[in-house]
Amino acid sequence: MKHHFLGLAANYSRKERLAHTFAVGRKKDYQELSEFLRQKYEGEAILTKNGRSALALALKAYFEPGDAVIVNGFTCYAVYEAIKAAHLTPVWADISSEDLNYNATTLGRLEISKNVKGIIIQNSLGNPVDVATVEKFAKKHNLTIIEDLAHSAGVKYPDGREAGTVGAAAAFSFGKDKAIDTISGGAVVLRYPHKNVIKAPSKLPKISDTLRARFYPLFGAVAQGLSYIYLSGAWMRALVKIHWVEKSADNTLDLDRKIAKFEAKLALRQFKALKKSGEKPLREFCLVRDRKEVLKKLQKSGYYFGGVWYEKPVSPERYYKKVHFPENECPVAVEVAEKITNYPTFYSKKDLKKAHEIVAEYREEIK
Ligand SMILES: *Cc1c(COP(=O)(O)O)cnc(C)c1O
Repeated sequence: MKHHFLGLAANYSRKERLAHTFAVGRKKDYQELSEFLRQKYEGEAILTKNGRSALALALKAYFEPGDAVIVNGFTCYAVYEAIKAAHLTPVWADISSEDLNYNATTLGRLEISKNVKGIIIQNSLGNPVDVATVEKFAKKHNLTIIEDLAHSAGVKYPDGREAGTVGAAAAFSFGKDKAIDTISGGAVVLRYPHKNVIKAPSKLPKISDTLRARFYPLFGAVAQGLSYIYLSGAWMRALVKIHWVEKSADNTLDLDRKIAKFEAKLALRQFKALKKSGEKPLREFCLVRDRKEVLKKLQKSGYYFGGVWYEKPVSPERYYKKVHFPENECPVAVEVAEKITNYPTFYSKKDLKKAHEIVAEYREEIK
Protein backbone atom coordinates (compact mmCIF):
# COMPACT_ATOMS: atom_id res chain seq x y z
CA MET A 1 0.00 0.00 0.00
CA LYS A 2 1.44 3.36 -0.99
CA HIS A 3 0.11 6.39 0.86
CA HIS A 4 0.62 9.67 -0.79
CA PHE A 5 2.37 12.47 0.99
CA LEU A 6 0.21 14.09 3.65
CA GLY A 7 2.54 16.64 5.14
CA LEU A 8 1.06 20.11 5.21
CA ALA A 9 -2.29 20.82 6.82
CA ALA A 10 -2.91 17.12 6.43
CA ASN A 11 -5.72 17.16 8.93
CA TYR A 12 -7.64 19.43 6.55
CA SER A 13 -10.08 17.73 4.20
CA ARG A 14 -10.42 19.04 0.66
CA LYS A 15 -13.58 20.85 1.67
CA GLU A 16 -11.85 22.46 4.66
CA ARG A 17 -8.94 23.59 2.49
CA LEU A 18 -11.33 25.41 0.20
CA ALA A 19 -13.31 26.86 3.09
CA HIS A 20 -10.07 28.11 4.64
CA THR A 21 -8.65 29.60 1.45
CA PHE A 22 -11.78 31.51 0.53
CA ALA A 23 -13.09 32.46 3.97
CA VAL A 24 -14.03 36.13 4.16
CA GLY A 25 -13.38 37.71 7.55
CA ARG A 26 -15.20 40.75 8.88
CA LYS A 27 -14.76 42.94 11.90
CA LYS A 28 -17.75 41.32 13.55
CA ASP A 29 -15.88 37.99 13.54
CA TYR A 30 -13.61 39.41 16.24
CA GLN A 31 -16.60 40.36 18.35
CA GLU A 32 -18.35 37.06 17.83
CA LEU A 33 -15.34 34.94 18.77
CA SER A 34 -14.58 37.12 21.82
CA GLU A 35 -18.18 36.95 22.95
CA PHE A 36 -18.28 33.16 22.53
CA LEU A 37 -15.09 32.73 24.58
CA ARG A 38 -16.29 35.17 27.20
CA GLN A 39 -19.45 33.17 27.75
CA LYS A 40 -17.94 29.70 27.49
CA TYR A 41 -14.96 30.32 29.77
CA GLU A 42 -16.43 33.13 31.84
CA GLY A 43 -13.79 35.81 31.61
CA GLU A 44 -12.31 38.62 29.61
CA ALA A 45 -11.36 37.35 26.12
CA ILE A 46 -8.42 38.73 24.13
CA LEU A 47 -7.57 37.58 20.60
CA THR A 48 -3.87 37.26 19.78
CA LYS A 49 -1.45 36.59 16.96
CA ASN A 50 -0.65 33.10 18.25
CA GLY A 51 -0.73 30.83 21.27
CA ARG A 52 2.57 31.94 22.76
CA SER A 53 1.41 35.57 22.79
CA ALA A 54 -1.83 34.47 24.46
CA LEU A 55 0.08 32.56 27.14
CA ALA A 56 2.46 35.51 27.65
CA LEU A 57 -0.52 37.83 28.27
CA ALA A 58 -1.97 35.39 30.80
CA LEU A 59 1.35 35.23 32.64
CA LYS A 60 1.78 39.01 32.56
CA ALA A 61 -1.70 39.46 34.00
CA TYR A 62 -1.15 37.36 37.13
CA PHE A 63 2.59 37.35 37.86
CA GLU A 64 5.36 39.86 38.54
CA PRO A 65 8.73 39.89 36.77
CA GLY A 66 11.08 37.60 38.69
CA ASP A 67 8.36 35.18 39.78
CA ALA A 68 8.73 31.52 38.92
CA VAL A 69 6.11 29.18 37.44
CA ILE A 70 5.97 25.39 37.32
CA VAL A 71 5.87 24.02 33.77
CA ASN A 72 5.38 20.58 32.29
CA GLY A 73 8.87 19.25 31.51
CA PHE A 74 7.84 18.05 28.08
CA THR A 75 6.68 20.89 25.90
CA CYS A 76 7.50 23.17 23.01
CA TYR A 77 9.79 26.15 22.86
CA ALA A 78 6.82 28.48 22.41
CA VAL A 79 5.90 27.93 26.06
CA TYR A 80 9.40 28.87 27.17
CA GLU A 81 9.22 31.98 24.98
CA ALA A 82 5.99 33.05 26.66
CA ILE A 83 7.50 32.56 30.12
CA LYS A 84 10.53 34.64 29.12
CA ALA A 85 8.37 37.36 27.57
CA ALA A 86 6.66 37.74 30.94
CA HIS A 87 10.11 37.86 32.64
CA LEU A 88 9.44 34.73 34.68
CA THR A 89 11.59 31.72 35.54
CA PRO A 90 10.46 28.22 34.57
CA VAL A 91 10.53 25.40 37.13
CA TRP A 92 10.42 22.20 35.09
CA ALA A 93 8.42 19.28 36.49
CA ASP A 94 9.14 15.75 35.24
CA ILE A 95 6.36 13.80 33.55
CA SER A 96 4.79 10.38 33.64
CA SER A 97 5.41 8.30 30.52
CA GLU A 98 1.76 7.29 30.54
CA ASP A 99 0.11 10.64 29.85
CA LEU A 100 3.14 12.95 29.36
CA ASN A 101 1.92 15.20 32.19
CA TYR A 102 3.43 15.96 35.59
CA ASN A 103 1.65 14.27 38.50
CA ALA A 104 1.54 14.18 42.31
CA THR A 105 4.85 12.29 42.51
CA THR A 106 6.86 14.54 40.19
CA LEU A 107 5.33 17.71 41.62
CA GLY A 108 6.14 16.44 45.10
CA ARG A 109 9.81 16.20 44.18
CA LEU A 110 10.05 19.91 43.31
CA GLU A 111 11.63 22.38 45.63
CA ILE A 112 9.10 25.18 45.98
CA SER A 113 10.93 28.36 46.81
CA LYS A 114 9.19 31.57 47.81
CA ASN A 115 9.20 33.06 44.33
CA VAL A 116 7.24 30.17 42.80
CA LYS A 117 3.83 31.71 42.26
CA GLY A 118 2.13 29.72 39.52
CA ILE A 119 1.67 26.44 37.70
CA ILE A 120 0.87 25.95 34.03
CA ILE A 121 -1.34 23.02 33.07
CA GLN A 122 -0.62 21.59 29.63
CA ASN A 123 -2.76 18.45 29.09
CA SER A 124 -0.07 17.07 26.78
CA LEU A 125 -1.28 15.88 23.39
CA GLY A 126 -4.82 16.20 24.71
CA ASN A 127 -4.32 13.86 27.71
CA PRO A 128 -6.01 15.58 30.63
CA VAL A 129 -3.94 16.08 33.75
CA ASP A 130 -5.33 14.89 37.09
CA VAL A 131 -6.67 18.33 37.79
CA ALA A 132 -7.77 17.66 41.38
CA THR A 133 -4.14 16.87 42.25
CA VAL A 134 -2.96 20.09 40.63
CA GLU A 135 -5.55 22.11 42.52
CA LYS A 136 -4.57 20.52 45.82
CA PHE A 137 -0.92 21.20 45.13
CA ALA A 138 -1.64 24.77 44.04
CA LYS A 139 -3.68 25.42 47.15
CA LYS A 140 -0.99 24.06 49.43
CA HIS A 141 1.67 26.31 47.91
CA ASN A 142 -0.58 29.24 47.11
CA LEU A 143 -0.05 29.01 43.34
CA THR A 144 -2.15 30.53 40.57
CA ILE A 145 -3.17 27.99 37.91
CA ILE A 146 -2.88 28.87 34.22
CA GLU A 147 -4.35 26.45 31.68
CA ASP A 148 -2.51 26.23 28.37
CA LEU A 149 -5.07 24.58 26.10
CA ALA A 150 -3.07 24.51 22.86
CA HIS A 151 -3.48 20.71 22.89
CA SER A 152 -6.70 20.38 24.75
CA ALA A 153 -9.51 22.81 23.89
CA GLY A 154 -12.73 20.89 24.51
CA VAL A 155 -11.10 18.16 26.61
CA LYS A 156 -12.74 16.98 29.85
CA TYR A 157 -10.78 16.45 33.05
CA PRO A 158 -11.20 13.14 34.94
CA ASP A 159 -13.68 14.81 37.31
CA GLY A 160 -15.91 15.91 34.41
CA ARG A 161 -15.04 19.59 34.35
CA GLU A 162 -14.00 21.03 31.01
CA ALA A 163 -10.46 22.23 30.43
CA GLY A 164 -10.39 26.01 30.65
CA THR A 165 -12.87 26.28 33.50
CA VAL A 166 -10.44 25.65 36.36
CA GLY A 167 -7.55 28.13 36.30
CA ALA A 168 -7.17 31.89 36.53
CA ALA A 169 -6.69 32.01 32.77
CA ALA A 170 -7.07 29.79 29.73
CA ALA A 171 -4.72 30.30 26.77
CA PHE A 172 -5.41 28.88 23.31
CA SER A 173 -3.32 28.38 20.20
CA PHE A 174 -5.03 28.13 16.83
CA GLY A 175 -1.73 27.15 15.17
CA LYS A 176 -0.98 24.26 12.83
CA ASP A 177 -2.07 20.88 14.22
CA LYS A 178 -3.39 22.33 17.47
CA ALA A 179 -6.77 21.48 18.98
CA ILE A 180 -8.22 24.48 17.15
CA ASP A 181 -6.31 24.84 13.89
CA THR A 182 -6.71 27.90 11.70
CA ILE A 183 -2.96 27.78 10.82
CA SER A 184 -2.18 30.70 13.13
CA GLY A 185 -3.82 32.77 15.83
CA GLY A 186 -4.61 32.46 19.50
CA ALA A 187 -6.73 33.75 22.34
CA VAL A 188 -6.64 34.10 26.08
CA VAL A 189 -9.47 34.29 28.57
CA LEU A 190 -8.58 36.04 31.84
CA ARG A 191 -11.04 34.46 34.26
CA TYR A 192 -9.97 35.97 37.56
CA PRO A 193 -9.43 39.64 38.36
CA HIS A 194 -5.82 40.54 37.68
CA LYS A 195 -3.54 43.06 39.30
CA ASN A 196 -1.58 43.95 36.21
CA VAL A 197 -3.15 45.95 33.42
CA ILE A 198 -3.21 44.04 30.15
CA LYS A 199 -3.39 45.88 26.87
CA ALA A 200 -5.26 43.99 24.17
CA PRO A 201 -3.39 43.85 20.85
CA SER A 202 -4.55 46.69 18.62
CA LYS A 203 -2.75 46.16 15.32
CA LEU A 204 -3.88 43.90 12.52
CA PRO A 205 -1.52 41.04 11.63
CA LYS A 206 1.18 41.69 9.06
CA ILE A 207 -0.06 41.11 5.52
CA SER A 208 2.75 38.63 4.88
CA ASP A 209 1.70 36.58 7.92
CA THR A 210 -1.95 36.62 6.87
CA LEU A 211 -1.08 35.49 3.35
CA ARG A 212 1.08 32.67 4.72
CA ALA A 213 -1.75 31.47 6.93
CA ARG A 214 -4.26 31.88 4.12
CA PHE A 215 -2.44 29.75 1.57
CA TYR A 216 -0.81 27.11 3.74
CA PRO A 217 -3.53 24.49 3.26
CA LEU A 218 -3.47 25.14 -0.48
CA PHE A 219 0.32 24.72 -0.60
CA GLY A 220 -0.26 21.44 1.21
CA ALA A 221 -2.67 20.29 -1.46
CA VAL A 222 -0.07 21.05 -4.12
CA ALA A 223 2.51 19.09 -2.09
CA GLN A 224 0.16 16.11 -2.06
CA GLY A 225 -0.21 16.28 -5.82
CA LEU A 226 3.52 16.60 -6.35
CA SER A 227 4.21 13.60 -4.13
CA TYR A 228 3.15 11.32 -6.97
CA ILE A 229 6.20 12.48 -8.93
CA TYR A 230 8.39 12.64 -5.81
CA LEU A 231 8.67 16.43 -5.81
CA SER A 232 6.82 17.30 -2.62
CA GLY A 233 10.05 17.50 -0.60
CA ALA A 234 11.61 19.99 -3.01
CA TRP A 235 8.37 22.01 -3.09
CA MET A 236 8.25 22.26 0.68
CA ARG A 237 11.90 23.19 1.01
CA ALA A 238 11.43 25.88 -1.61
CA LEU A 239 8.40 27.31 0.21
CA VAL A 240 10.32 27.47 3.49
CA LYS A 241 13.31 29.01 1.74
CA ILE A 242 11.28 31.87 0.24
CA HIS A 243 9.37 32.23 3.54
CA TRP A 244 5.97 31.40 2.09
CA VAL A 245 5.83 28.67 4.69
CA GLU A 246 7.12 29.21 8.20
CA LYS A 247 8.10 26.48 10.65
CA SER A 248 5.68 26.58 13.57
CA ALA A 249 8.43 27.09 16.13
CA ASP A 250 9.59 30.23 14.32
CA ASN A 251 6.28 32.07 14.55
CA THR A 252 7.22 35.18 16.53
CA LEU A 253 5.68 36.27 19.80
CA ASP A 254 3.99 39.63 19.33
CA LEU A 255 1.78 41.23 21.94
CA ASP A 256 0.63 44.07 19.68
CA ARG A 257 -1.02 42.13 16.89
CA LYS A 258 -4.37 40.42 16.65
CA ILE A 259 -5.44 37.31 14.81
CA ALA A 260 -6.59 37.75 11.18
CA LYS A 261 -10.31 38.28 10.78
CA PHE A 262 -10.87 35.19 8.66
CA GLU A 263 -9.04 33.09 11.24
CA ALA A 264 -11.30 34.42 13.99
CA LYS A 265 -14.28 33.33 11.93
CA LEU A 266 -12.85 29.83 11.34
CA ALA A 267 -11.77 29.46 14.98
CA LEU A 268 -15.31 30.19 16.17
CA ARG A 269 -16.66 27.59 13.78
CA GLN A 270 -14.22 25.02 15.20
CA PHE A 271 -15.00 25.91 18.82
CA LYS A 272 -18.66 25.32 18.12
CA ALA A 273 -17.87 21.89 16.64
CA LEU A 274 -15.58 20.88 19.53
CA LYS A 275 -17.88 18.48 21.31
CA LYS A 276 -17.01 15.64 18.99
CA SER A 277 -13.33 16.26 18.39
CA GLY A 278 -12.58 16.93 22.06
CA GLU A 279 -13.07 13.28 22.86
CA LYS A 280 -10.03 11.86 21.13
CA PRO A 281 -6.44 12.81 21.94
CA LEU A 282 -4.71 15.35 19.74
CA ARG A 283 -2.11 12.74 18.86
CA GLU A 284 -1.78 9.11 19.81
CA PHE A 285 1.75 8.17 20.84
CA CYS A 286 3.88 5.11 21.45
CA LEU A 287 7.32 4.69 23.01
CA VAL A 288 9.81 2.70 20.96
CA ARG A 289 13.48 1.79 20.89
CA ASP A 290 15.48 2.71 17.77
CA ARG A 291 13.09 5.43 16.70
CA LYS A 292 15.14 6.27 13.61
CA GLU A 293 14.83 2.72 12.37
CA VAL A 294 11.10 2.64 13.11
CA LEU A 295 10.52 5.87 11.19
CA LYS A 296 12.54 4.54 8.28
CA LYS A 297 10.47 1.35 8.21
CA LEU A 298 7.27 3.34 8.31
CA GLN A 299 8.42 5.49 5.46
CA LYS A 300 9.33 2.42 3.45
CA SER A 301 5.82 1.13 3.96
CA GLY A 302 4.49 4.33 2.45
CA TYR A 303 3.61 6.28 5.58
CA TYR A 304 4.38 9.88 6.16
CA PHE A 305 4.85 10.45 9.87
CA GLY A 306 5.93 14.07 10.01
CA GLY A 307 7.69 15.50 13.02
CA VAL A 308 7.82 14.03 16.50
CA TRP A 309 6.02 15.73 19.40
CA TYR A 310 8.50 16.09 21.10
CA GLU A 311 12.01 15.13 20.06
CA LYS A 312 13.51 16.94 23.07
CA PRO A 313 11.95 17.75 26.47
CA VAL A 314 11.58 21.27 25.08
CA SER A 315 11.27 21.11 21.30
CA PRO A 316 12.45 21.70 18.60
CA GLU A 317 16.02 20.52 18.97
CA ARG A 318 17.49 23.65 17.37
CA TYR A 319 16.32 25.79 20.30
CA TYR A 320 16.78 23.24 23.06
CA LYS A 321 20.18 24.45 24.25
CA LYS A 322 18.82 27.93 24.97
CA VAL A 323 16.45 26.54 27.57
CA HIS A 324 19.09 25.03 29.92
CA PHE A 325 16.70 22.22 30.72
CA PRO A 326 17.53 20.37 33.97
CA GLU A 327 17.87 16.88 32.49
CA ASN A 328 18.96 15.33 35.79
CA GLU A 329 15.75 16.40 37.46
CA CYS A 330 13.49 15.22 34.63
CA PRO A 331 14.83 11.80 33.60
CA VAL A 332 11.49 10.50 32.34
CA ALA A 333 11.01 13.50 30.05
CA VAL A 334 14.48 12.95 28.61
CA GLU A 335 13.82 9.27 27.96
CA VAL A 336 10.34 9.85 26.55
CA ALA A 337 11.73 12.45 24.13
CA GLU A 338 14.14 9.81 22.82
CA LYS A 339 11.51 7.15 22.42
CA ILE A 340 8.27 8.81 21.49
CA THR A 341 6.62 8.43 18.10
CA ASN A 342 3.24 9.94 17.29
CA TYR A 343 0.76 8.35 14.99
CA PRO A 344 -0.36 10.89 12.44
CA THR A 345 -3.91 12.03 12.86
CA PHE A 346 -4.82 11.94 9.21
CA TYR A 347 -4.89 8.24 8.31
CA SER A 348 -7.95 6.08 8.76
CA LYS A 349 -7.87 3.30 11.36
CA LYS A 350 -7.62 0.77 8.57
CA ASP A 351 -4.69 2.56 6.94
CA LEU A 352 -2.86 2.70 10.27
CA LYS A 353 -3.11 -1.03 10.90
CA LYS A 354 0.22 -1.83 9.27
CA ALA A 355 1.86 1.10 11.07
CA HIS A 356 0.67 -0.26 14.41
CA GLU A 357 2.22 -3.63 13.56
CA ILE A 358 5.56 -2.05 12.66
CA VAL A 359 5.61 0.08 15.80
CA ALA A 360 4.51 -2.79 18.06
CA GLU A 361 7.70 -4.69 17.26
CA TYR A 362 9.75 -1.88 18.76
CA ARG A 363 7.46 -0.91 21.58
CA GLU A 364 9.21 -0.20 24.86
CA GLU A 365 7.85 0.90 28.20
CA ILE A 366 9.66 3.10 30.66
CA LYS A 367 9.84 1.80 34.20
C1 LIG B 1 2.09 25.27 20.12
C2 LIG B 1 1.95 25.46 21.54
C3 LIG B 1 1.82 26.73 22.10
C4 LIG B 1 1.95 28.02 21.33
O1 LIG B 1 1.24 28.10 20.20
P1 LIG B 1 1.67 29.03 18.96
O2 LIG B 1 0.36 29.37 18.34
O3 LIG B 1 2.54 28.20 18.09
O4 LIG B 1 2.38 30.23 19.48
C5 LIG B 1 1.64 26.83 23.47
N1 LIG B 1 1.62 25.72 24.25
C6 LIG B 1 1.76 24.49 23.75
C7 LIG B 1 1.71 23.33 24.69
C8 LIG B 1 1.93 24.31 22.39
O5 LIG B 1 2.09 23.07 21.90
